[in-house]
Amino acid sequence: MKISFHTIIVEDYPEKDQFLLYSTRTQALIKIDKALKNVLDRVVSLDEGTLLRYEKELQHLYQAGILVNDDNEDIQKLKTHLSRIKFGADKSQYLVTILTTYACNLKCTYCFEESSRTMVKLDDDTQKEVIRWLKNRITEQGYSSLNINYYGGEPLLNPAAIDHISEEMQSWCRERNIHFRFSLQTNGYLLTPDKVKRFKKLGLTNVRISMDGVGDDHDKFRPLRGGGGTFDRIIGNIKDCVDLVKISISIGYDKGDIAPLEKLVNYFQEQGILHKLGQFAFSPLIPSLGPKGEPQKIRGTQCMSNSHDAALSQAARKISELMAAKGVVLPSGMSTSVCPLTREHSGVTIDQHGRLYRCNSLLGHPEFAIGDVRSDNYNSQHVFFRDLDVWKQCPTDCTYMPMCSGGCRLMSFVGNAGNFRVPSCKKPYLNEMAPEFIKREYQKLTAQRNKANAPAKNEGQQAICT
Ligand code: SF4
Ligand code: SF4
Repeated sequence: MKISFHTIIVEDYPEKDQFLLYSTRTQALIKIDKALKNVLDRVVSLDEGTLLRYEKELQHLYQAGILVNDDNEDIQKLKTHLSRIKFGADKSQYLVTILTTYACNLKCTYCFEESSRTMVKLDDDTQKEVIRWLKNRITEQGYSSLNINYYGGEPLLNPAAIDHISEEMQSWCRERNIHFRFSLQTNGYLLTPDKVKRFKKLGLTNVRISMDGVGDDHDKFRPLRGGGGTFDRIIGNIKDCVDLVKISISIGYDKGDIAPLEKLVNYFQEQGILHKLGQFAFSPLIPSLGPKGEPQKIRGTQCMSNSHDAALSQAARKISELMAAKGVVLPSGMSTSVCPLTREHSGVTIDQHGRLYRCNSLLGHPEFAIGDVRSDNYNSQHVFFRDLDVWKQCPTDCTYMPMCSGGCRLMSFVGNAGNFRVPSCKKPYLNEMAPEFIKREYQKLTAQRNKANAPAKNEGQQAICT
Protein backbone atom coordinates (compact mmCIF):
# COMPACT_ATOMS: atom_id res chain seq x y z
CA MET A 1 0.00 0.00 0.00
CA LYS A 2 0.98 3.65 -0.43
CA ILE A 3 -0.46 7.08 0.23
CA SER A 4 -2.34 8.21 -2.87
CA PHE A 5 -0.87 11.00 -5.01
CA HIS A 6 -4.17 12.74 -4.31
CA THR A 7 -3.93 12.82 -0.52
CA ILE A 8 -3.06 16.04 1.31
CA ILE A 9 -1.83 15.86 4.91
CA VAL A 10 -2.37 18.83 7.23
CA GLU A 11 -0.06 18.57 10.22
CA ASP A 12 -0.81 19.39 13.85
CA TYR A 13 -4.46 20.22 13.33
CA PRO A 14 -6.92 20.61 15.06
CA GLU A 15 -4.36 20.02 17.84
CA LYS A 16 -0.68 19.21 18.10
CA ASP A 17 0.02 15.60 17.06
CA GLN A 18 -3.29 15.36 15.24
CA PHE A 19 -3.43 15.23 11.44
CA LEU A 20 -6.07 15.81 8.78
CA LEU A 21 -6.01 13.60 5.69
CA TYR A 22 -7.89 14.90 2.65
CA SER A 23 -8.41 13.16 -0.67
CA THR A 24 -8.86 15.49 -3.65
CA ARG A 25 -10.42 12.55 -5.55
CA THR A 26 -13.05 11.31 -3.08
CA GLN A 27 -13.15 14.50 -0.95
CA ALA A 28 -12.91 12.30 2.14
CA LEU A 29 -11.66 14.20 5.20
CA ILE A 30 -10.32 12.11 8.09
CA LYS A 31 -8.61 13.04 11.36
CA ILE A 32 -5.91 10.70 12.67
CA ASP A 33 -3.55 10.66 15.65
CA LYS A 34 0.24 10.51 15.84
CA ALA A 35 0.39 6.70 16.20
CA LEU A 36 -1.52 6.11 12.95
CA LYS A 37 0.45 8.86 11.20
CA ASN A 38 3.68 7.02 12.15
CA VAL A 39 2.22 3.89 10.55
CA LEU A 40 1.35 5.83 7.37
CA ASP A 41 4.89 7.25 7.19
CA ARG A 42 6.17 3.71 6.58
CA VAL A 43 3.07 2.23 4.97
CA VAL A 44 4.97 0.92 1.91
CA SER A 45 7.05 -1.43 4.06
CA LEU A 46 4.97 -2.43 7.08
CA ASP A 47 5.70 -5.68 8.89
CA GLU A 48 2.91 -8.21 9.22
CA GLY A 49 2.30 -7.50 12.91
CA THR A 50 1.66 -3.80 12.32
CA LEU A 51 -0.51 -4.59 9.29
CA LEU A 52 -2.67 -6.85 11.43
CA ARG A 53 -2.86 -4.42 14.34
CA TYR A 54 -3.95 -1.53 12.12
CA GLU A 55 -5.94 -3.57 9.60
CA LYS A 56 -9.28 -1.86 10.31
CA GLU A 57 -7.85 1.67 10.14
CA LEU A 58 -5.83 0.98 6.98
CA GLN A 59 -8.87 -0.58 5.31
CA HIS A 60 -10.94 2.49 6.18
CA LEU A 61 -8.28 4.80 4.70
CA TYR A 62 -8.10 2.63 1.57
CA GLN A 63 -11.85 2.80 1.06
CA ALA A 64 -11.75 6.57 1.51
CA GLY A 65 -9.11 6.85 -1.26
CA ILE A 66 -6.39 8.11 1.12
CA LEU A 67 -4.41 4.90 0.49
CA VAL A 68 -4.10 2.85 -2.71
CA ASN A 69 -2.35 -0.41 -3.50
CA ASP A 70 0.20 1.00 -5.96
CA ASP A 71 0.87 3.72 -8.57
CA ASN A 72 -1.02 1.83 -11.30
CA GLU A 73 -4.16 1.64 -9.21
CA ASP A 74 -3.79 5.32 -8.29
CA ILE A 75 -3.63 6.36 -11.94
CA GLN A 76 -6.45 4.01 -12.94
CA LYS A 77 -8.71 5.43 -10.24
CA LEU A 78 -7.83 8.95 -11.37
CA LYS A 79 -8.75 8.15 -14.99
CA THR A 80 -12.07 6.58 -13.94
CA HIS A 81 -12.80 9.64 -11.79
CA LEU A 82 -12.00 12.11 -14.62
CA SER A 83 -14.08 10.14 -17.11
CA ARG A 84 -17.03 10.10 -14.68
CA ILE A 85 -16.75 13.88 -14.31
CA LYS A 86 -16.52 14.35 -18.08
CA PHE A 87 -19.47 12.17 -19.06
CA GLY A 88 -21.49 11.73 -15.85
CA ALA A 89 -24.46 13.87 -14.88
CA ASP A 90 -25.64 14.99 -11.48
CA LYS A 91 -29.36 14.29 -11.88
CA SER A 92 -30.17 15.87 -8.54
CA GLN A 93 -30.20 19.36 -10.04
CA TYR A 94 -29.97 21.15 -13.37
CA LEU A 95 -28.31 24.57 -13.16
CA VAL A 96 -29.34 26.98 -15.90
CA THR A 97 -28.40 30.64 -16.25
CA ILE A 98 -30.68 32.76 -18.45
CA LEU A 99 -29.85 36.23 -19.75
CA THR A 100 -33.12 38.16 -19.86
CA THR A 101 -31.25 40.94 -21.67
CA TYR A 102 -27.74 41.98 -22.63
CA ALA A 103 -28.55 45.63 -21.83
CA CYS A 104 -27.37 47.14 -18.56
CA ASN A 105 -28.25 50.32 -16.68
CA LEU A 106 -24.73 50.48 -15.17
CA LYS A 107 -21.41 50.85 -16.96
CA CYS A 108 -18.93 49.00 -14.77
CA THR A 109 -15.35 49.83 -15.68
CA TYR A 110 -14.17 46.21 -15.84
CA CYS A 111 -17.34 44.50 -17.18
CA PHE A 112 -16.32 41.64 -19.48
CA GLU A 113 -19.54 42.09 -21.49
CA GLU A 114 -18.99 45.79 -22.25
CA SER A 115 -16.87 45.27 -25.37
CA SER A 116 -19.63 43.21 -27.00
CA ARG A 117 -22.61 45.01 -25.38
CA THR A 118 -25.89 45.20 -27.31
CA MET A 119 -29.30 46.31 -26.03
CA VAL A 120 -31.05 43.11 -27.17
CA LYS A 121 -33.65 41.57 -24.83
CA LEU A 122 -34.86 37.97 -24.66
CA ASP A 123 -38.05 38.34 -26.76
CA ASP A 124 -41.32 36.39 -26.50
CA ASP A 125 -40.52 33.92 -29.29
CA THR A 126 -37.10 33.11 -27.85
CA GLN A 127 -38.61 32.74 -24.36
CA LYS A 128 -40.97 30.09 -25.78
CA GLU A 129 -38.01 28.29 -27.38
CA VAL A 130 -36.10 28.45 -24.06
CA ILE A 131 -39.06 26.88 -22.25
CA ARG A 132 -39.42 24.16 -24.90
CA TRP A 133 -35.69 23.37 -24.78
CA LEU A 134 -35.65 23.22 -20.94
CA LYS A 135 -38.62 20.85 -20.82
CA ASN A 136 -37.02 18.54 -23.40
CA ARG A 137 -33.66 18.46 -21.68
CA ILE A 138 -35.10 17.86 -18.20
CA THR A 139 -37.32 15.06 -19.52
CA GLU A 140 -34.48 13.46 -21.50
CA GLN A 141 -31.95 13.58 -18.62
CA GLY A 142 -34.40 12.96 -15.76
CA TYR A 143 -33.31 15.82 -13.48
CA SER A 144 -35.13 15.95 -10.16
CA SER A 145 -34.73 19.69 -9.68
CA LEU A 146 -34.32 22.81 -11.83
CA ASN A 147 -32.41 25.83 -10.54
CA ILE A 148 -32.52 28.91 -12.81
CA ASN A 149 -30.26 31.92 -12.28
CA TYR A 150 -31.47 35.06 -14.13
CA TYR A 151 -28.52 37.09 -15.30
CA GLY A 152 -27.72 39.80 -17.84
CA GLY A 153 -26.83 42.56 -18.64
CA GLU A 154 -29.14 43.56 -15.85
CA PRO A 155 -31.91 40.92 -15.58
CA LEU A 156 -34.36 43.35 -13.93
CA LEU A 157 -34.49 45.41 -17.15
CA ASN A 158 -36.67 42.61 -18.54
CA PRO A 159 -38.83 41.41 -15.61
CA ALA A 160 -41.54 40.13 -17.99
CA ALA A 161 -39.17 37.38 -19.15
CA ILE A 162 -38.58 36.34 -15.52
CA ASP A 163 -42.35 36.21 -14.92
CA HIS A 164 -43.07 34.24 -18.09
CA ILE A 165 -40.34 31.60 -17.86
CA SER A 166 -40.70 31.11 -14.08
CA GLU A 167 -44.48 30.81 -14.18
CA GLU A 168 -44.35 28.26 -16.97
CA MET A 169 -41.49 26.19 -15.52
CA GLN A 170 -42.86 26.35 -11.97
CA SER A 171 -46.20 24.85 -12.96
CA TRP A 172 -44.64 22.31 -15.39
CA CYS A 173 -42.17 21.15 -12.70
CA ARG A 174 -44.88 21.02 -10.04
CA GLU A 175 -47.00 18.66 -12.17
CA ARG A 176 -44.00 16.33 -12.49
CA ASN A 177 -42.83 16.52 -8.90
CA ILE A 178 -39.61 18.28 -9.97
CA HIS A 179 -38.29 20.84 -7.52
CA PHE A 180 -38.08 24.36 -9.00
CA ARG A 181 -36.43 27.51 -7.70
CA PHE A 182 -34.66 30.52 -9.11
CA SER A 183 -32.18 33.21 -8.16
CA LEU A 184 -31.36 36.66 -9.51
CA GLN A 185 -27.87 37.97 -10.20
CA THR A 186 -28.35 41.73 -10.28
CA ASN A 187 -26.57 45.02 -9.69
CA GLY A 188 -29.36 45.76 -7.17
CA TYR A 189 -30.30 49.18 -8.58
CA LEU A 190 -33.82 48.13 -9.62
CA LEU A 191 -34.51 45.68 -6.79
CA THR A 192 -37.66 46.56 -4.83
CA PRO A 193 -39.74 44.81 -2.14
CA ASP A 194 -42.69 44.56 -4.58
CA LYS A 195 -40.63 42.72 -7.17
CA VAL A 196 -39.16 40.42 -4.52
CA LYS A 197 -42.62 39.57 -3.16
CA ARG A 198 -43.95 38.87 -6.67
CA PHE A 199 -40.95 36.74 -7.68
CA LYS A 200 -41.01 34.78 -4.41
CA LYS A 201 -44.44 33.40 -5.37
CA LEU A 202 -42.82 32.16 -8.59
CA GLY A 203 -39.89 30.43 -6.85
CA LEU A 204 -37.29 33.14 -6.04
CA THR A 205 -35.03 32.00 -3.18
CA ASN A 206 -31.85 34.03 -3.52
CA VAL A 207 -30.63 37.38 -4.87
CA ARG A 208 -26.94 37.95 -5.57
CA ILE A 209 -25.74 41.55 -5.75
CA SER A 210 -22.28 42.64 -6.89
CA MET A 211 -20.59 45.48 -4.98
CA ASP A 212 -17.10 46.97 -4.98
CA GLY A 213 -16.88 49.04 -1.81
CA VAL A 214 -18.55 51.87 0.13
CA GLY A 215 -19.64 55.16 -1.53
CA ASP A 216 -17.03 56.43 -4.00
CA ASP A 217 -15.09 53.13 -3.91
CA HIS A 218 -18.20 51.47 -5.35
CA ASP A 219 -19.33 54.35 -7.57
CA LYS A 220 -16.02 54.76 -9.40
CA PHE A 221 -16.20 51.13 -10.62
CA ARG A 222 -19.99 50.78 -10.91
CA PRO A 223 -21.49 54.11 -12.15
CA LEU A 224 -24.84 54.52 -13.90
CA ARG A 225 -24.64 54.23 -17.69
CA GLY A 226 -25.61 57.91 -18.03
CA GLY A 227 -23.22 58.90 -15.19
CA GLY A 228 -23.76 59.23 -11.44
CA GLY A 229 -23.28 57.02 -8.40
CA THR A 230 -25.28 53.92 -7.53
CA PHE A 231 -24.13 52.97 -4.03
CA ASP A 232 -26.76 54.83 -1.95
CA ARG A 233 -29.70 53.48 -3.91
CA ILE A 234 -28.37 49.90 -3.95
CA ILE A 235 -27.75 49.92 -0.18
CA GLY A 236 -31.26 51.32 0.34
CA ASN A 237 -32.70 48.50 -1.79
CA ILE A 238 -30.70 45.87 0.12
CA LYS A 239 -32.00 47.20 3.46
CA ASP A 240 -35.59 47.23 2.12
CA CYS A 241 -35.37 43.62 0.88
CA VAL A 242 -33.00 41.86 3.28
CA ASP A 243 -35.82 40.59 5.50
CA LEU A 244 -37.82 39.33 2.50
CA VAL A 245 -35.26 37.16 0.69
CA LYS A 246 -31.75 35.85 1.16
CA ILE A 247 -29.34 38.40 -0.37
CA SER A 248 -25.82 37.22 -1.15
CA ILE A 249 -23.02 39.63 -1.95
CA SER A 250 -20.27 39.29 -4.59
CA ILE A 251 -17.32 41.58 -4.03
CA GLY A 252 -14.59 42.14 -6.59
CA TYR A 253 -11.15 43.40 -5.59
CA ASP A 254 -8.12 44.70 -7.39
CA LYS A 255 -4.61 43.33 -7.15
CA GLY A 256 -3.42 43.17 -3.56
CA ASP A 257 -5.84 45.83 -2.37
CA ILE A 258 -8.59 44.51 -0.13
CA ALA A 259 -9.09 47.79 1.78
CA PRO A 260 -12.34 48.76 -0.08
CA LEU A 261 -13.68 45.26 0.52
CA GLU A 262 -12.85 45.46 4.23
CA LYS A 263 -14.61 48.84 4.49
CA LEU A 264 -17.71 47.38 2.85
CA VAL A 265 -17.89 44.42 5.24
CA ASN A 266 -17.47 46.82 8.19
CA TYR A 267 -20.18 49.03 6.72
CA PHE A 268 -22.63 46.09 6.52
CA GLN A 269 -21.87 45.41 10.18
CA GLU A 270 -22.42 49.05 11.24
CA GLN A 271 -25.74 49.03 9.39
CA GLY A 272 -26.78 45.89 11.30
CA ILE A 273 -27.25 43.74 8.20
CA LEU A 274 -24.01 41.72 8.02
CA HIS A 275 -25.52 38.64 9.65
CA LYS A 276 -28.80 38.96 7.76
CA LEU A 277 -27.00 38.63 4.43
CA GLY A 278 -26.45 35.28 2.73
CA GLN A 279 -23.16 33.93 1.39
CA PHE A 280 -20.28 36.23 0.49
CA ALA A 281 -18.21 35.58 -2.65
CA PHE A 282 -14.90 37.41 -3.12
CA SER A 283 -13.24 37.42 -6.54
CA PRO A 284 -10.11 39.09 -7.82
CA LEU A 285 -10.56 40.96 -11.09
CA ILE A 286 -9.62 38.74 -14.01
CA PRO A 287 -8.78 39.55 -17.64
CA SER A 288 -11.62 39.55 -20.17
CA LEU A 289 -11.90 38.80 -23.87
CA GLY A 290 -11.61 41.51 -26.52
CA PRO A 291 -14.48 42.96 -28.60
CA LYS A 292 -16.86 40.89 -30.70
CA GLY A 293 -14.97 39.10 -33.47
CA GLU A 294 -11.63 39.74 -31.78
CA PRO A 295 -11.78 37.76 -28.52
CA GLN A 296 -7.98 37.29 -28.45
CA LYS A 297 -7.46 41.05 -27.86
CA ILE A 298 -7.43 40.44 -24.12
CA ARG A 299 -8.15 43.29 -21.68
CA GLY A 300 -6.83 43.70 -18.13
CA THR A 301 -3.90 41.31 -18.20
CA GLN A 302 -2.33 43.04 -15.20
CA CYS A 303 -5.02 41.83 -12.82
CA MET A 304 -4.88 38.81 -10.57
CA SER A 305 -4.90 35.94 -13.02
CA ASN A 306 -1.42 34.66 -12.26
CA SER A 307 -1.48 31.99 -9.59
CA HIS A 308 2.29 32.40 -9.07
CA ASP A 309 1.48 35.86 -7.76
CA ALA A 310 1.80 35.78 -3.97
CA ALA A 311 -0.66 38.68 -3.73
CA LEU A 312 -3.47 36.29 -4.65
CA SER A 313 -2.97 33.94 -1.70
CA GLN A 314 -2.13 36.83 0.64
CA ALA A 315 -5.43 38.51 -0.24
CA ALA A 316 -7.35 35.21 0.14
CA ARG A 317 -5.83 34.69 3.58
CA LYS A 318 -6.59 38.25 4.74
CA ILE A 319 -10.21 37.93 3.57
CA SER A 320 -10.56 34.62 5.37
CA GLU A 321 -9.23 36.18 8.61
CA LEU A 322 -11.47 39.23 8.23
CA MET A 323 -14.63 37.16 7.81
CA ALA A 324 -13.68 34.72 10.58
CA ALA A 325 -13.26 37.68 12.95
CA LYS A 326 -16.78 38.81 12.00
CA GLY A 327 -18.19 35.32 12.58
CA VAL A 328 -19.10 34.83 8.89
CA VAL A 329 -18.45 31.35 7.46
CA LEU A 330 -16.95 31.20 3.96
CA PRO A 331 -17.20 28.19 1.61
CA SER A 332 -14.20 25.89 2.08
CA GLY A 333 -12.79 26.22 -1.45
CA MET A 334 -11.71 22.54 -1.61
CA SER A 335 -14.19 21.20 -4.12
CA THR A 336 -14.14 19.62 -7.55
CA SER A 337 -13.84 22.60 -9.85
CA VAL A 338 -13.22 20.92 -13.19
CA CYS A 339 -14.04 23.44 -15.94
CA PRO A 340 -17.69 23.00 -17.01
CA LEU A 341 -16.67 23.58 -20.64
CA THR A 342 -15.01 20.17 -20.56
CA ARG A 343 -18.06 18.29 -19.24
CA GLU A 344 -20.81 16.70 -21.31
CA HIS A 345 -23.66 17.44 -18.92
CA SER A 346 -22.77 20.50 -16.85
CA GLY A 347 -25.23 23.39 -16.54
CA VAL A 348 -25.70 25.88 -19.38
CA THR A 349 -26.08 29.60 -19.86
CA ILE A 350 -28.71 30.74 -22.38
CA ASP A 351 -28.12 34.19 -23.85
CA GLN A 352 -30.69 36.73 -25.06
CA HIS A 353 -30.64 35.20 -28.57
CA GLY A 354 -31.18 31.65 -27.27
CA ARG A 355 -27.55 30.60 -27.78
CA LEU A 356 -26.08 28.11 -25.31
CA TYR A 357 -22.80 28.70 -23.50
CA ARG A 358 -20.95 26.85 -20.74
CA CYS A 359 -18.86 29.78 -19.53
CA ASN A 360 -20.31 33.22 -18.78
CA SER A 361 -16.97 34.86 -19.55
CA LEU A 362 -17.33 33.76 -23.20
CA LEU A 363 -20.74 35.46 -23.58
CA GLY A 364 -20.92 37.92 -26.48
CA HIS A 365 -18.68 35.68 -28.64
CA PRO A 366 -21.05 33.43 -30.63
CA GLU A 367 -18.15 31.41 -32.03
CA PHE A 368 -17.81 29.92 -28.51
CA ALA A 369 -21.51 29.01 -28.15
CA ILE A 370 -22.06 25.25 -27.83
CA GLY A 371 -25.56 25.20 -29.32
CA ASP A 372 -28.90 26.99 -29.58
CA VAL A 373 -32.28 26.42 -27.94
CA ARG A 374 -33.78 25.92 -31.41
CA SER A 375 -31.90 22.62 -31.68
CA ASP A 376 -31.81 19.73 -29.20
CA ASN A 377 -28.20 18.81 -30.08
CA TYR A 378 -25.05 20.59 -29.06
CA ASN A 379 -22.70 21.71 -31.87
CA SER A 380 -19.09 20.86 -32.77
CA GLN A 381 -17.73 23.62 -30.49
CA HIS A 382 -19.14 21.67 -27.54
CA VAL A 383 -17.24 18.57 -28.67
CA PHE A 384 -14.07 20.66 -29.13
CA PHE A 385 -14.23 21.97 -25.52
CA ARG A 386 -15.29 18.64 -24.04
CA ASP A 387 -12.46 16.71 -25.63
CA LEU A 388 -9.60 19.12 -24.89
CA ASP A 389 -8.33 16.77 -22.15
CA VAL A 390 -5.50 19.13 -21.25
CA TRP A 391 -4.94 17.17 -18.03
CA LYS A 392 -3.00 14.69 -20.17
CA GLN A 393 -0.22 17.32 -20.35
CA CYS A 394 -0.01 17.58 -16.52
CA PRO A 395 2.16 15.36 -14.31
CA THR A 396 0.04 12.32 -13.37
CA ASP A 397 1.13 12.59 -9.74
CA CYS A 398 -0.23 16.14 -9.33
CA THR A 399 -2.16 16.13 -6.04
CA TYR A 400 -4.81 18.47 -7.40
CA MET A 401 -5.51 16.66 -10.67
CA PRO A 402 -8.90 15.16 -9.60
CA MET A 403 -10.32 18.58 -8.70
CA CYS A 404 -8.51 20.67 -11.32
CA SER A 405 -8.04 18.54 -14.44
CA GLY A 406 -5.84 21.12 -16.15
CA GLY A 407 -7.58 24.27 -14.94
CA CYS A 408 -9.77 27.02 -16.33
CA ARG A 409 -9.93 27.11 -20.16
CA LEU A 410 -10.60 30.86 -20.13
CA MET A 411 -7.31 31.47 -18.31
CA SER A 412 -5.57 29.28 -20.88
CA PHE A 413 -7.11 31.40 -23.68
CA VAL A 414 -6.22 34.76 -22.13
CA GLY A 415 -2.75 33.70 -21.04
CA ASN A 416 -1.70 31.93 -24.26
CA ALA A 417 -2.73 34.16 -27.16
CA GLY A 418 -6.11 32.58 -27.74
CA ASN A 419 -5.08 28.94 -27.17
CA PHE A 420 -7.54 26.84 -25.15
CA ARG A 421 -5.23 23.80 -25.12
CA VAL A 422 -2.68 24.77 -22.44
CA PRO A 423 -3.05 23.74 -18.76
CA SER A 424 -3.68 26.81 -16.63
CA CYS A 425 -2.00 25.77 -13.43
CA LYS A 426 -3.08 27.07 -10.01
CA LYS A 427 -0.66 24.77 -8.18
CA PRO A 428 1.37 27.49 -6.40
CA TYR A 429 -1.87 29.06 -5.14
CA LEU A 430 -3.31 25.70 -4.12
CA ASN A 431 -0.09 24.64 -2.37
CA GLU A 432 -0.33 27.81 -0.33
CA MET A 433 -4.07 27.73 0.35
CA ALA A 434 -5.05 24.03 0.46
CA PRO A 435 -4.21 23.52 4.19
CA GLU A 436 -6.25 26.63 4.97
CA PHE A 437 -9.22 25.36 2.93
CA ILE A 438 -9.04 21.89 4.48
CA LYS A 439 -9.03 23.35 8.00
CA ARG A 440 -12.08 25.42 7.06
CA GLU A 441 -13.81 22.30 5.71
CA TYR A 442 -13.02 20.49 8.96
CA GLN A 443 -14.44 23.38 11.03
CA LYS A 444 -17.60 23.38 8.90
CA LEU A 445 -18.13 19.62 9.21
CA THR A 446 -17.44 19.69 12.96
CA ALA A 447 -19.95 22.53 13.44
CA GLN A 448 -22.55 20.62 11.36
CA ARG A 449 -21.93 17.43 13.31
CA ASN A 450 -22.21 19.20 16.64
CA LYS A 451 -25.43 20.87 15.51
CA ALA A 452 -27.06 17.74 14.14
CA ASN A 453 -25.33 15.43 16.60
CA ALA A 454 -24.68 13.18 13.62
CA PRO A 455 -21.43 11.75 12.16
CA ALA A 456 -19.52 14.05 9.77
CA LYS A 457 -19.81 13.21 6.09
CA ASN A 458 -16.78 11.92 4.27
CA GLU A 459 -17.88 12.72 0.76
CA GLY A 460 -18.15 16.39 -0.25
CA GLN A 461 -20.31 18.10 -2.85
CA GLN A 462 -19.12 18.88 -6.34
CA ALA A 463 -19.09 22.56 -7.16
CA ILE A 464 -19.86 23.95 -10.57
CA CYS A 465 -18.47 27.08 -12.19
CA THR A 466 -20.99 29.03 -14.25
S1 SF4 B 1 -14.40 30.62 -15.90
FE1 SF4 B 1 -12.89 29.06 -16.48
S2 SF4 B 1 -13.42 27.24 -15.28
FE2 SF4 B 1 -15.23 28.59 -15.30
S3 SF4 B 1 -16.42 27.89 -17.08
FE3 SF4 B 1 -15.14 29.58 -17.76
S4 SF4 B 1 -13.37 28.56 -18.65
FE4 SF4 B 1 -14.37 27.04 -17.32
S1 SF4 C 1 -3.14 22.50 -14.06
FE1 SF4 C 1 -1.60 22.37 -12.41
S2 SF4 C 1 -2.79 21.96 -10.53
FE2 SF4 C 1 -4.13 21.53 -12.30
S3 SF4 C 1 -3.88 19.34 -12.67
FE3 SF4 C 1 -2.42 20.39 -14.00
S4 SF4 C 1 -0.49 20.44 -12.81
FE4 SF4 C 1 -2.16 19.99 -11.39
